Amino acid sequence: MAAYDLIIVGGGIGGAALATVMARAGRSVLLLEQSEVYEDRVRGEWIAPWGVDEVRRVGLYDLLMGAGGHHLTRHVTYDETLDPTAAEAKTLPLGIFRADVPGPLCIGHPHHCQTLFDAAGAAGATALRGVRVIEVEAGESPRAVYEHQGRTIEATGRLLVGADGRTSMVRETAGIALHQDKPHHWFGGLLIDGAGDWPDDLQAIGTEGDFAFLAFPQGGGKVRVYGGYALDQAQRFKGPDGTRRFLDAFTMSCSPHNRHLVAGEPAGPLYSYFNNDSWTDAPFAPGVVLVGDAAGWNDPILGLGLSITYRDVRIVSELLKGADDWTHLSFATYAEERSERMRRLRFAARMQAALDMEFGDEARARRARVFAMSAADPSFKVQGFAVMAGPEALPPEAFTQEAWDRVMGAPA
Ligand SMILES: Cc1cc2nc3c(=O)[nH]c(=O)nc-3n(C[C@H](O)[C@H](O)[C@H](O)COP(=O)(O)OP(=O)(O)OC[C@H]3O[C@@H](n4cnc5c(N)ncnc54)[C@H](O)[C@@H]3O)c2cc1C
Repeated sequence: MAAYDLIIVGGGIGGAALATVMARAGRSVLLLEQSEVYEDRVRGEWIAPWGVDEVRRVGLYDLLMGAGGHHLTRHVTYDETLDPTAAEAKTLPLGIFRADVPGPLCIGHPHHCQTLFDAAGAAGATALRGVRVIEVEAGESPRAVYEHQGRTIEATGRLLVGADGRTSMVRETAGIALHQDKPHHWFGGLLIDGAGDWPDDLQAIGTEGDFAFLAFPQGGGKVRVYGGYALDQAQRFKGPDGTRRFLDAFTMSCSPHNRHLVAGEPAGPLYSYFNNDSWTDAPFAPGVVLVGDAAGWNDPILGLGLSITYRDVRIVSELLKGADDWTHLSFATYAEERSERMRRLRFAARMQAALDMEFGDEARARRARVFAMSAADPSFKVQGFAVMAGPEALPPEAFTQEAWDRVMGAPA
């Protein structure tokens, strides 16, 4: 039976990044990924400035830039209550949030996963694709039984890592409960090509009528677009011409440049998810630690899942590298930091979702009020700073009921 320091279940961003970091540190790593090929499942392609710092700290920044990573440097918020020229006059430079980070980093998700998976193998990890994990065991002697290329194999590890995403089997086997918020809105995502007239370094968001959009250029005329719409419109973009109707929904008078997005061609599937938040009380159990979405995810409206995952990888790898004997290693500091991090980001996401992804007269009036107050006092809706600079960049008072009432004008 093969023995490893780490058995990592799931070779997405979290698993493959941790495998690379730990293999580079000289630890033996078994990385088990179920898919044969990474496909576009509409997952994260935008890393916030604080996440870029985490990528740097785990030593993977040059790898991502070498693989075609692309920085965005400007942000515009459009809205039906704002004149487009006035919105563009308030273009936000994105290099102001973290030292030496020019702005958010974009890289296609399947390519990002493949780059990390290859790096893990190159660093000495046993990185396997097309694996069916049959059984995992936590506790004093962690182990996994899996099928690979027609063989059933059993491996033991000093630690089992659950990096197997939202429906984590490792989390379930370890008996770690997942708490979830109620869904707030539908969120559809699509990669488009041929949108070369949309500036390569400009991200934008905006709400008009019953639709909200987000656009993140990936370079070379490709743009990842998202659209948010009400929960009672599950069928809105279903059917054979659903993708075309989705792109047409980007036609907005508040954001005239959206015509370049509407003119784009779909370059991947349109998938819609309902957006919500989730968390675990403690992302570890004897013999097991969880990273990334397996440990609980933030509402994708903030686009922070990758940043969260890279921070998980950084903290967990630092703890593992800092000790030779893992028998009594405690992940309590990781759990404590993650719990507060996710609490703050849950607050920020709930606020952003209520502002951008609610529709109708009342929601419009609330957005208009928030824009006016923010124009008069740039610190008015300070929670946006946490999205870019990191949740720890603000004092705890920014995430209280009082702070909510001040911005939203009503109790949560
Ligand atoms: C619509 C949408 C948009 C998003 N946009 C952004 C964004 O712009 N920026 C951002 O930062 N985040 C974004 N996110 C979140 C981000 O994609 C995730 O947080 C991130 O991918 C989590 O990485 P992960 O490695 O933990 O999990 P995953 O990406 O889910 O990877 C898990 C891996 O484990 C494998 N796996 C699962 N089960 C098993 C098993 N039993 N055996 C073996 N392998 C297994 C899967 O095949 C997969 O490769 C978005 C999410 C959604 C839904």
